[in-house]
Order: sequence, then C-alpha cells, then structure tokens
Amino acid sequence: MSLFTTTYDVIVVGGGHAGSEAAAASANMGAHTLLITMNLQNIAQMSCNPAMGGIAKGQIVREIDALGGYSGIVTDKTAIQFKMLNKSKGPAMWSPRAQSDRMQFAECWRNMLEQTENLDFYQDSVNGLIFDENKIIGVKTNLGLEIKAKTVIVTAGTFLNGLIHIGEKTFGGGRAGEGASTGITEDLVAKGFESGRMKTGTPPRVDGRSLDYSKMTEQPGDDNPEKFSYLPITSVLKEQRSCYLTYTNQTTHDLLREGFDRSPMFNGRIKSTGPRYCPSVEDKINRFADKERHQVFVEPEGWNTVEIYVNGFSTSLPEDIQDKAIRSIPGFENVKFFRYGYAIEYDYFPPTQLTHSLETKLIENLFFAGQINGTTGYEEAAAQGLMAGVNAALKTQNKAPFILKRSEAYIGVLIDDLITKGTEEPYRMFTSRAEYRTLLRQDNADLRLTKKSFKLGLASEERLERVTNKEKKTEETIEFLKKLSVTKEDINPILEKKNLAAINQSMKLYKIAARPQLNFNDFLSIEKLNNFIEENSIDKEIIEQVEIHLKYSGYIEKEKSNADKLNRLENVPIPSSFDYTKVKSLSYEAREKLLKIKPTSISQASRISGVSPSDVSVLLVYMGR
Ligand code: FAD
Repeated sequence: MSLFTTTYDVIVVGGGHAGSEAAAASANMGAHTLLITMNLQNIAQMSCNPAMGGIAKGQIVREIDALGGYSGIVTDKTAIQFKMLNKSKGPAMWSPRAQSDRMQFAECWRNMLEQTENLDFYQDSVNGLIFDENKIIGVKTNLGLEIKAKTVIVTAGTFLNGLIHIGEKTFGGGRAGEGASTGITEDLVAKGFESGRMKTGTPPRVDGRSLDYSKMTEQPGDDNPEKFSYLPITSVLKEQRSCYLTYTNQTTHDLLREGFDRSPMFNGRIKSTGPRYCPSVEDKINRFADKERHQVFVEPEGWNTVEIYVNGFSTSLPEDIQDKAIRSIPGFENVKFFRYGYAIEYDYFPPTQLTHSLETKLIENLFFAGQINGTTGYEEAAAQGLMAGVNAALKTQNKAPFILKRSEAYIGVLIDDLITKGTEEPYRMFTSRAEYRTLLRQDNADLRLTKKSFKLGLASEERLERVTNKEKKTEETIEFLKKLSVTKEDINPILEKKNLAAINQSMKLYKIAARPQLNFNDFLSIEKLNNFIEENSIDKEIIEQVEIHLKYSGYIEKEKSNADKLNRLENVPIPSSFDYTKVKSLSYEAREKLLKIKPTSISQASRISGVSPSDVSVLLVYMGR
C-alpha cells in the first residue's frame, strides 16, 4: 500500500542528531527529502548528557556550523552554560562546550527543520527496506506503507533491536520510554551485511530540589562566554546556570559493589562492548579499585526544570542499589529520583562496510550515519548525518561525492577512521586521533570549510561573506603589523610591565608581538595600532586569528607541509577493480584487509592496520609510482 505517491530524492530514517542534520543538509541542497521518525516530539532528543561539544567534539560542532549545519545554532539558542575548555593550552586544544536546555533543544531543532524548504515529515517506524537487486529504492513502515526514494539514509541510533537493562530486568527499547526498532537489521543481514552489538549507559536523573548544594562545589560557566555558530543569528549567553561538583566515596563504592552479582555488566547478560571513555560508575570502581573517589557533576537539565543529570554516575545496577549508593554522596542524602540509570544494547554495522561518502559498499544509494556506524556522541552522529545528507543529495544530482580529508576537518578524520579502521568499541573523537590538530582548530573551521560548503550549495552567501571578510581583515592586520615600526618609547613600558628586557631601537611590531609572553591586547596603547583597529573595525575574532598566526605560524606551516606530503599519496588512486589477489608480494594479512576495505587511495591503504610500509611500496609500484 502507498499513500505516498512521490518518489523522494532522499528518505532519512530516524530523527536523532544524525538524522536531523542529514535531513537539513539534503533538503538545503535542493533534494526533496522525507524525514521518517518514530516520534516527531523527540527530534534530536539528547538521550544522555544535555551538553554539546567538549574536547575535539566542540571542534566538530564548529565544523558542522561552518558547513551550514544546524547543531551549533540550536546549541547556542538553547544553551544554559558555556565553557571554553583547555584555554590554558595552545589554541589547537581549545574546545567549546555548552550545556543546553534539553527540552528547548529538541523544540528548537524541530522549529528549524520545519522552516527548511524541501523537507517533509512523517511519524512512523521503518521496519523494512525495499531493494531492487543491489540498489535501495524505498522503505516499509509499521503501518504497512511503502515509500519510494532514490536514496535512503539510515540513522537509527541505539534503536536497532535495542535491549534495555536495569539490574536483572531486561526489556526491548531504543531509549527510556521508547520502543526498539526491528526489521532493518534483519533485511540488511539478509543482503550480506555484517552486524554487531554495542552497549552504552546513562545515569539517573534526580529532583534538584532534593539536593543540598552547600555540600558541593559550584562550577559556573565562563565569565566571557563565547558561542558555537559563526553566524550572528545567535548571541552569547547573558545569564548562565551553574553546575556543581561532588564526589563518590568508599561507602558509595561498597554499596555499589553489593549489587555486582545482580549487575548485567558483571553477570554476563551484557556481552557487548561499551564506551571505554564514558564508563559506568560500576566499571570505574571495578577497574580502578584503588581510587578513593570519583567526580560527580550535578548538571541542570534546563532553565525551567528542577531535573538534574548526575554526570559520572552512569549505571545499570538494580534500582535499590542505585538508590542506596547515590544517597552516600555528599549533597544527595535526601535525593528523590526522577528516573533510574540504565544500559542499552543495540545493533551496529561495522563501518568498514561504507565508502568515504557513507554510502554502503553492498547496496547502492543506501547511506548510514550516526550510532549505527559504531560511534557514540551527538557530535559524531550529527557530523556523519550532515555528510550523508550532502552525499545522498549529490548522488541524486549525479555529482561526485563530497569528502573531507584528514587534514581538512575532524569530520574527515572521523569518517576516514571509521571506514578504514572500523571500530570494535563505541568510537568517540579525541584530539589525539587527528594528526594535524594544529590545523583543525575550533577558531578556523569556517576558514577551512565554508567555501567548500558554499560551492556545494549548502552554506549560505552570508556565511561566505563573513569568512571572506574574516580572511581579508586577518591578512590586512598581519600586513599592517609587519610594516608598523614601533619605537622603544612605545614598547619599553609594555615590556617593563611584563618584566621583559627593554629594547634600544625601533622594531617592527610583528616581531615583538610574536613573543610568547606578550598578547596582542598589550599593544593597544600604541596609537597607530589602535587607530588601525578602530578604522578597520577589527573585532575580537580577527585579533584571535592574528594572535594565533603570530604565535603558532611556524607549527602551522610545518603541519601544512606534512599534510601536503600525505595528500600527494591521497592523490594516488587505487581503482576499485584492482585485484589484490594477484599481488603475491603483499603480506597475507595486508591482502585480506585490502580486499575487505577496498581503499580508494594509497594513503588510505597505508592507514589500514596490518598494511605495512613495505606493502605500501608494493602498491605504489603497481600504481606506476
Ligand atoms: P539517536 O539520537 O539515537 O536517534 C535515533 C533516532 O532514530 C530516534 O529519533 C529514533 O526514534 C529514530 N528511529 C530509530 N529507528 C527508527 C525506525 N526504524 N524508524 C523510524 N525512526 C527510527 N553518547 C555519548 O557520547 N556518551 C554517553 O555516555 C552516551 N550515553 C548514552 C546512553 C543512552 C542510554 C543512550 C540511548 C545513548 C547514549 N549516548 C551517549 C549516545 C548518544 O545519544 C548518541 O550517540 C547519539 O544520540 C546518536 O545519534 P543518532 O542520530 O545516531 O541516534
């Protein structure tokens, strides 16, 4: 039966973080898009922590924004607290993080999607995929509808055969209060896909009115908060809500241990792998038995709610244990629960089954994005969603895929890691995963990506203009500094304040300003500089770019040159028809892996674990180099 007579360009299955960005991107690129999701009230629902960004993840949100995605804007519009993490380190490590009002976040996302042209909505559950041999041509739903499409993006998150665990209780579900999704995994496995199981967990939510904050340490937001979006449609926070910090103790640990025999983590009921870097509290006290205490961050869920997210206390222990143990934490003695913590197991598809465009290798026009690819985190999901949305739209327009290199974006690192190395545990982004992190900063995502996105037809003209202006003004300011000669009368009082040796002749300001002990703002007392800034409306953002250039241009140039070298290998393609079985001089392991991953370039081949430098040399010879 089909009540939908249209053949859509793109159907997006699932309206989580990946699905929402995918739907926005494909629709904004002119593709007629349908977003099908189980519950339209839960668009981009934050299943776990009500926060976006953080180390490396904040850079991803900035990249999404620079490309014209919505996650940064929604975060800014619904933020209750903002922090720039790692500000004491070099700019490659600065990472924005914001806490959002959970309910407003979902509402804002839905409003933005509703205002997006070319985008239709439908609430139902997809329980099957329609194929024409090795091509996807549509989806089937629980209500028995068949909806046709040229491309389909599956972003089912933690819902595929989801199984929720709390202590000894187990029940089907995709997330607290929502049903699991069946049918999709089965259809894909029948087509030859490999699937696996992963798990994740979430802490209890409690009533903030029942907590004693006097026993905790206040954690306010930044004094001068920044924001995610490069566009002026959002503004920085004028008011913020504080979080609080408290700790578990030996009593908490003893009480938690009392429930270990009933823990699905330890009694063998949960067999799948969880996120190593976001462990449950029982996992923490088990693995780090000698640690006397663990941090517990008390995070408000919004402006107008008393609900609190107990960050650091993720658990699937039985309710009675959760209840007893949490009361031993200072400030939680009289706590009232809103909801107990739980763990969830779900199907994922090893991402080595995808190409760089996130299209599956087995089925043409079928794309996967988000947690289904073995990742964890809203930011990782949203980034993949945006890229899958772009690439599905490009596919319908018969255009080449849009692929970001590892040296261009964390998003490039994320997708390349997933499809080249795969992942056996929930994958999250870290700065250490990026070999060119000095290039991939949160302050320059727009400079790196907006022009590319504008060319695709995704980033708006306004974004492009702002980037062009930022580039131009940064260059002009650097040129001005290179030319501006300053006298010892100008400079010595500044040096003296910083206990630095005086100069005895005039110098170019550019040289002095590069000194690590000095900041651009120290020189604002120099009249000529001040006049330049005022006359040319040089704002904080430009000054930051200039400062980074002054202090880090050496490192940046070095990384650029390393990246260029690698990109030369990136430009040595391996034809998809290349027959590795005929190359006897490859090691057995390398041949197996190369056959499985089918890298598109020598560079990608070199990143596959098991492919050694000598295997790469062999391939280079075969590619005529
Ligand atoms: P989701 O946000 O899960 O969205 C999937 C969407 O698809 C949902 O709207 C769902 O209704 C819809 N859907 C699913 N199947 C169908 C179907 N067949 N038909 C129609 N619609 C469908 N991340 C962390 O970084 N750290 C954590 O500690 C963490 N803990 C988590 C704990 C829990 C209990 C859960 C559920 C998630 C946790 N996450 C955590 C993961 C985080 O929520 C996800 O990484 C992120 O939301 C993934 O985004 P997504 O778009 O892939 O999927």
